[in-house]
Amino acid sequence: MEFIVSELEREPIDFDLELAPGVVDLGEEAAQQGLLEASGRAEVLHEHRGPRDIVADIRLKGRFAGRFEVPCARCIEPVEIPLSGDFDLIFRPAAADAEATERSITAQETEIGYYLRDSVSLEDVLREQVLLSLPVKTLCKPDCKGLCPRCGADRNSQPCNCDAGPSDPRWEALAGLRSRIESKDKNPQRH
Ligand SMILES: [Zn+2]
Ligand SMILES: [Zn+2]
Repeated sequence: MEFIVSELEREPIDFDLELAPGVVDLGEEAAQQGLLEASGRAEVLHEHRGPRDIVADIRLKGRFAGRFEVPCARCIEPVEIPLSGDFDLIFRPAAADAEATERSITAQETEIGYYLRDSVSLEDVLREQVLLSLPVKTLCKPDCKGLCPRCGADRNSQPCNCDAGPSDPRWEALAGLRSRIESKDKNPQRH
């Protein structure tokens, strides 16, 4: 869904959507499960910089909620987590600040995004919001035992006897390889 400045100039647009997986491209960070709900309002805010210098900013205010699958940080098994959040964002036309490189940038201004041409894409905004809300580290359970660094076994399901012997660097290399292959298998679009 694109919010086009000229349409928002006429009147604000309220949205209330349920987006199927894949509509918002989350790349390799997370896999959407079920519908992603998004609702809110898009409107134009006019910045009066001078008598003839009015900048049309797009303000996007709303919330999202959905379920996502991310790999366990230790054993790479997929973990389903609910995510939701509110956002209140301002997008300024990219051209408006193009020649303003000399201006000092305040902390507040760094929060401002930019839009190219004449619109802001809701899908782009949602992708950023979902990715920003992802936890830094997700575990399938607090005491996940992870993969054995020696033989590559998932120590949650297959206890191994590696603790008895010294580490063999060849198996460590293989364990790393195995986790890379598995993460590729589970997420064919990843690279
Ligand atoms: Zn785990
Ligand atoms: Zn082992």
